Amino acid sequence: MILKTMRAHSLNYFRVATRGRCSRPIAYLSARYGYGIRWSSSSSGSGERQWSTPLAKSLAEAITTAGPVSVASYMRQCLTSPNGGYYTRQTSGHDQFGAKGDFITSPEISQVFGELVGIWLYTEWLAQGRRERSQVIEVGPGRGTLMGDVLRTISNFKPFSQSIDTVYLVEASPHLRKQQAELLSGTEDLREVQNGWKAGCKYLPGRDITWCEDIRFVPKDETTTPFILAHEFFDALPIHVFQNTTSSTIPAASKIITPTGPIIPKYGPQVPRNQWHELVVSPAPSFSDPDIIRSKDLKEQKPEFQLTVSKTPTPHSLYLPQTSERYKALANTPDAVIEISPESLAYVADFAIRIGGSNAPKSSPSLSSHPSSSHPSGAALILDYGPSSTIPANTLRGIRSHQPVTPFLCAGEVDLSADVDFLALAESAIRASPGVEVHGPVEQAFFLRSLGIVERAQRLAEVARVAKEVRTEKGDEGDEMAKRVETGWKRLVDRGPTGMGRIYKAMAIVPHIGSGKVRRPVGFGGDVVG
Ligand code: SAH
Repeated sequence: MILKTMRAHSLNYFRVATRGRCSRPIAYLSARYGYGIRWSSSSSGSGERQWSTPLAKSLAEAITTAGPVSVASYMRQCLTSPNGGYYTRQTSGHDQFGAKGDFITSPEISQVFGELVGIWLYTEWLAQGRRERSQVIEVGPGRGTLMGDVLRTISNFKPFSQSIDTVYLVEASPHLRKQQAELLSGTEDLREVQNGWKAGCKYLPGRDITWCEDIRFVPKDETTTPFILAHEFFDALPIHVFQNTTSSTIPAASKIITPTGPIIPKYGPQVPRNQWHELVVSPAPSFSDPDIIRSKDLKEQKPEFQLTVSKTPTPHSLYLPQTSERYKALANTPDAVIEISPESLAYVADFAIRIGGSNAPKSSPSLSSHPSSSHPSGAALILDYGPSSTIPANTLRGIRSHQPVTPFLCAGEVDLSADVDFLALAESAIRASPGVEVHGPVEQAFFLRSLGIVERAQRLAEVARVAKEVRTEKGDEGDEMAKRVETGWKRLVDRGPTGMGRIYKAMAIVPHIGSGKVRRPVGFGGDVVG
């Protein structure tokens, strides 16, 4: 895969790695056996251990004081810590996205991707009776490229674009918020408001874009139809990892450490039985071989952190694997590994409630902000990589400069991600709201072809030959640009073993129309209606 990347570079075809294309075994082996990238993790002459990044040092210190942390805590710190997280730090030239950054995503590869997503939203708006008031929400917008292409496309459909009150962008990174504002509002100056920051929207005159740090700050309003997008967002949310091991190895008096003090669980008589144990992260033993420290060979560096199986149960290991029949079915499979992302499940439940209303009784005081919608409306489109039906296992991966690397080096300077468990997302959405149904996941190739990627790309390539208004990342013109449009769309629907068309999937949450009827959205087997 990497060879392919390099060969493509030398052919000048500008083919760079996507995160979804890093294969699982590589990520796992790198985590366990530690080939990574060259970095100055070492013991210094003074005897004090040196760390590759300030974040690695502070994580190691925190773990030394309070004990090993879950993979989820490690991921969260590495990705969004205010003190040097991968997305939240100031990048000073080394951008996360694109050819010069660490990875490339579909909207950055071709504008056709965002255009088709915009058309998909329009087909949903039509199918749902042309609602008068709507809003567009994107979680994890990166550089804002997808939203730019979506809004440019939507602005061609006047009645739909006029129905949009506000665009909401949910973004944890202050630096990316500025980049998004530059692109979508033409300014970096955001007005602070109660739930985040605001600026005008270039594509929807008179309307604002509001940036929020979390979906919970996006107001829920039953009179407004939400159209929600999540592209390569869920793979960046933290996962907990559990391994099934026999309990005979656990000491009878193991403690569970909770924020309010230790609990000693009752195990009863010691009958060997399988139990889920959480994989936890702690600093790897220090090493001091100067040849390795100075080595330029990327594979010689040792990871600074290691994964171990927690001997004692954690609050998460007792609870999370009991939350779905899919996990319970593996309860007696020794050495089975499962990954669960509670934050992803919470996000998707929030989407479902916005679209279909809450499952909880109206009287519940804690749900005053979760209306039980009497008229389900809206749609969520989730595009990401992960298996269609199986539970992801061993998929935590690091990527830097388009190379798969160990997730346990250079905390905060390496992108971390994991496969998305689409079925878990579907289950969470359906559990959260009686008013929704879930379609997919389908392969990205199927979704984009159903929306007419071939026809749209061909038209664009023709335009590119004569006009200069087509955007490609390299900014080239004419035939060269037409060629790039062509390689771009083909890459998005490539169904080879590691192709984006196969690895990336699309899933939709739409209102349940009831009376035993199902309306399939466009891209999921349905036609344009309305
Ligand atoms: N959708 C974009 C970017 C994907 S990268 C694209 O496809 O090009 C993930 C994005 O999610 C980044 O914008 C990152 O800053 C944001 N992000 C990651 N974790 C987040 C969190 N917990 N809350 C909000 N945004 C987050």
